[in-house]
Amino acid sequence: MEFNDDAGLDTSQVEDLRSSGGGVGGRVLLGGGGLGVVGLIIYFVMSQFGGGLLDGGSTAAGISDVSNGGRVDNARLSQECKTGRDANTKHDCALVAVINSVQGYWKDEFARSGRTYQQAPTNFFRGNVNTACGGATSDVGPFYCPGDSEVYVDLSFFQELQTRFGAEGGTFVEAYVLAHEYGHHVQNLLGTSDRVRTRRGPTSDAVRLELQADCYAGVWANHATTTPTSSGQPLIKSISQDDIRRALDAASRIGDDFIQRELGGGRVDESQFTHGTSAQREKWFTTGIKSGNPANCDTFKASNLG
Ligand SMILES: [Zn+2]
Repeated sequence: MEFNDDAGLDTSQVEDLRSSGGGVGGRVLLGGGGLGVVGLIIYFVMSQFGGGLLDGGSTAAGISDVSNGGRVDNARLSQECKTGRDANTKHDCALVAVINSVQGYWKDEFARSGRTYQQAPTNFFRGNVNTACGGATSDVGPFYCPGDSEVYVDLSFFQELQTRFGAEGGTFVEAYVLAHEYGHHVQNLLGTSDRVRTRRGPTSDAVRLELQADCYAGVWANHATTTPTSSGQPLIKSISQDDIRRALDAASRIGDDFIQRELGGGRVDESQFTHGTSAQREKWFTTGIKSGNPANCDTFKASNLG
């Protein structure tokens, strides 16, 4: 994907916690890069792909007190990330650009239906972080906390997506992850998250919520090159077929069945599904991309999830 060189970036939509918190998270304590047994269980139960705290619906598993406060320091980001040109050359700035674009789209989309979108910052953290949903370590993966309406991501997850999950990676893959988390924010604003009663199983509300977030990510992608942000120009210049193929490749590696089979001991147990199968995740992301219409993302009404 390519960013528009001249479009401006808004770093105020990101809260950079990395300079204050870093390095003492669960991952480091559990031994440099590898996940410990406890970490693994929490990881598979809670996270799989984003939305962990939202999916869990409680602060019980995987969330505990971490003493690391974390102070926002956006000095470096605001220095480095000024325009799409910076997004084309610097990883952090590309993520800022994606966040700006995703929120720009939803702001417009809400306005079209007479609603007001409330901006949600993404926190870049390292190791562990405190949230209104409790403290979390990197092991839970990227997540959205409905309690404070903020997205949290340890950027090392994107590396892990390639090394552990075997995804090809790329900027648009990361955009898909972030857009999925903002999908949860949209669900929170629309009250959809409150409809979740059943939290596990192949047709559970939790799975429907996750697949809808995938679909919303696709809807944004459909509009990404035409959504103007605050500078008046679309931030995203192009998304290639190869970008989309890579995102679908990533989606296929974070389905419940793939994770259970390839990373979780080999046995597929549908009763434990929280996010949907790989095929379903690909299907709903594609539905969003092709239609560009959030109304086509009603996974709660769908009799056949794919
Ligand atoms: Zn999710």
